[in-house]
Amino acid sequence: MNERRTAGARTAHRVVVLGAGYAGMSAAVQLAARTRGRADVQVTVVNARERFTERMRLHLTGTGQQVAHLSIPEMLAGTGARFERGWVTAVDADARTVRIDDDRVLPYDTLVYGLGGVADTASVPGVEEHAHTLNGAQDAEVLAGRLAHLGNSNGSGSGRGTVVVVGTGLTGIESAAEIAEQYPGLRVVLLGRTEPGAAMNPKAGAYLRAALVRLGVRARSGVEVVKVLPGAVELAGGESVPADVVLWTSGTRVSPLAAAAGLGVDERGRVVTDEALRSVSHPAVYAVGDAAAVRQHYGVMHGTCQGGMPTGVHAAVSILRELAGRRPRPFRFGYYHTPVSLGRHDAVVQFTRPDDSPRRVHLTGRRAAWYKEVVTAAPWPTYGRMRKMPASGALWPRGGRFTRVGRQR
Ligand SMILES: Cc1cc2nc3c(=O)[nH]c(=O)nc-3n(C[C@H](O)[C@H](O)[C@H](O)COP(=O)(O)OP(=O)(O)OC[C@H]3O[C@@H](n4cnc5c(N)ncnc54)[C@H](O)[C@@H]3O)c2cc1C
Repeated sequence: MNERRTAGARTAHRVVVLGAGYAGMSAAVQLAARTRGRADVQVTVVNARERFTERMRLHLTGTGQQVAHLSIPEMLAGTGARFERGWVTAVDADARTVRIDDDRVLPYDTLVYGLGGVADTASVPGVEEHAHTLNGAQDAEVLAGRLAHLGNSNGSGSGRGTVVVVGTGLTGIESAAEIAEQYPGLRVVLLGRTEPGAAMNPKAGAYLRAALVRLGVRARSGVEVVKVLPGAVELAGGESVPADVVLWTSGTRVSPLAAAAGLGVDERGRVVTDEALRSVSHPAVYAVGDAAAVRQHYGVMHGTCQGGMPTGVHAAVSILRELAGRRPRPFRFGYYHTPVSLGRHDAVVQFTRPDDSPRRVHLTGRRAAWYKEVVTAAPWPTYGRMRKMPASGALWPRGGRFTRVGRQR
């Protein structure tokens, strides 16, 4: 074992945060800020890259647009938290250790598990081999290179070819719109089981579908892609849709590490938590963000940044409450919006009830595009504020009155 603690810190409680995405960063910054200068708590953050991945902008990266360079070590600098760059390869939940890149071992007393989720590339044959994904910044950059090559294939920037985007969820819609806007010469086909915008109110959904038409996206719903081949996707029933590039956004899967560690997981591999966000099988593990199966009275939360950020804050505060001998409070969250970009100048923002069902009120057009940009840009300055004033973490919306204990069940 590679014992990394210094002699002076041997009695410190070791908190290790796995994954510095939206949720993990919230937990890490809260913990670091609230324990700054304390010798009895040591915070370590592990992430695959030093650069923060703005997952909500991966469709921009995937179409060759520049996004800001945000440094995780710089955000943590001066807080006392340590950053470890590396790929987590195993968690031993009984020995309370984490293995990184197979050769480093980090012991922990409390773990915050925030490794996120990605598109499911394993369930349909050919996806792993022939489809692109937006599962991380590197994947997005590879897609950008492929699209640039196809889009400029005639040397004039308006090359021809077909891009098939599979998945009519929000990532599929945003990606199809972005590709169509950036590469007007390409034919963009959006395939999925449900109609794009089906979860919105009828007016908002109709606006979204009209915007896709305006951008030239050919959306087809009610179809099931059963195979991805070189140069085509195959639909249930045998139809073949030609594709020069396939972008796969359908389904979600999480890292197999939690299940392999013996943590209690749901059918999708997410860590099942108690109401304080601790693993039901291993309470020394808190789970946050897309990697966690967090039950609220309306059901299990689905992966979003809007819900992931508060889980990180809550886990950090709960860990410190436990260290102070107090019981952690239950986590409460209600959704309030679904913002969907439709290229750079258009969007739909569907305001929702706490259970994520659509309200009548929604925004469209430039106002919605501005709103979406504000939402997308918000996490990083929020970390900066929390680093100076941890209590400001409570300002991130989490559902208003609904979240007050006693209003539910
Ligand atoms: C195009 C797009 C648009 C979106 N728009 C919105 C939106 O408008 N609003 C909204 O609320 N949500 C949106 N989402 C969803 C949102 O991005 C996710 O719900 C959110 O990223 C989840 O945060 P997280 O911290 O759980 O995981 P992530 O942000 O995915 O972070 C996980 C981190 O863990 C790291 N990691 C994973 N495995 C390992 C490993 N084995 N070792 C080391 N590091 C590892 C990753 O590198 C990453 O840094 C969007 C998603 C996409 C793709």
